[in-house]
Amino acid sequence: MKLLAFSSIIFLVGGFCWGNTQNITARPIVKYPKNIILIIGDGTGLAQISAGLYNNNFRFSLESFPVIGFQKTYSASNLITDSAAAATAIASGIKTNNSVLGLNIEGEPTRTILEEAKDNGFATGLVVTSSIQHATPGGFVAHRVARNLYEGITEDILESGIDLFIGGGKQYFDRRELDDRNLIDSLKSKGYNVYDYFNNDINYITLDPNKKFAFFTADNQPLSAFQGRDYLPKAAAMAAKFLHLRSELGFFLMVEGSQIDWACHANQVEPMYDELEDFNKTIETVLEFAKKNGETLVIVTADHETGGLGLNTGNSKILAPKFTTNGHTATMVPVFAYGPKSELFRGIYENTALYYKMRTAFGFSEN
Ligand code: MG
Ligand code: ZN
Repeated sequence: MKLLAFSSIIFLVGGFCWGNTQNITARPIVKYPKNIILIIGDGTGLAQISAGLYNNNFRFSLESFPVIGFQKTYSASNLITDSAAAATAIASGIKTNNSVLGLNIEGEPTRTILEEAKDNGFATGLVVTSSIQHATPGGFVAHRVARNLYEGITEDILESGIDLFIGGGKQYFDRRELDDRNLIDSLKSKGYNVYDYFNNDINYITLDPNKKFAFFTADNQPLSAFQGRDYLPKAAAMAAKFLHLRSELGFFLMVEGSQIDWACHANQVEPMYDELEDFNKTIETVLEFAKKNGETLVIVTADHETGGLGLNTGNSKILAPKFTTNGHTATMVPVFAYGPKSELFRGIYENTALYYKMRTAFGFSEN
């Protein structure tokens, strides 16, 4: 009864304001995001996020995300996934064998959300704190039988047509063992402005949206946050701004906190805290962009948990995280979503569902 009365009031008010327009039909407003920024914390399970939160005065940027889900991380070959199979699942919606990048279990190439976004006229980017050829970024642009085929993955990056990438791995472009090609020159002839950590400070780069953008942060792997690496928050914000200028339609950007996983493999608490702090700041800068922009879906998740982290206490007040393995584990990992279509990410689902949810959010047609 109350509901009916309420509807009548709305009707009367509506009738009063627009008395002559009898043909108005109520249509649902479907708001699709123009941009998707997917942030992956490699190895970042709930215990890592909790540790990062307690270590940061009990606060973490993820608290302002309205939608939370969980994903099942297992791969086609193993209950415990590696980063290559997980990246393939998230990027392409297909479970494959551990160590495989962008191929299904029959060895056929998958099509990634980044490739689809590009084919639909969107700008695309990858920003990581590992080499750009590493498993997680590799899963979005490469199609190789093994994740350690770094020089081959480099060729896939070159052929991908990606608008922006920031990460390590310069040596696989210009000091190759497979061939004598200088793929930095190839990048330049394909329209990239190429920068590197040795000659350029990422804080003082002038963006030119008329050219593509490559920034090498290391010859192979960048420093850890513990050793002073601090570019990820800045680079993520810069990438969002750049890609926003590159395409009117929108963009897809994957940002990875790559080394949370490495600190957890090494069972090192302080380096893990430093990586989580860097990850937290990165999420903050991306959220700042998304809030101003209003048309950006931000998704934060992990590829898997690393270290089997337990949150024990040294005494009643001091947190003393303890690892139970130096490998990965099979625990589900959380998914946080903010912005238009974020509601799609509620619930418990396979890691492959992330791909389909991102497609739906972009409004790409079925099949
Ligand atoms: Mg990774
Ligand atoms: Zn790992």
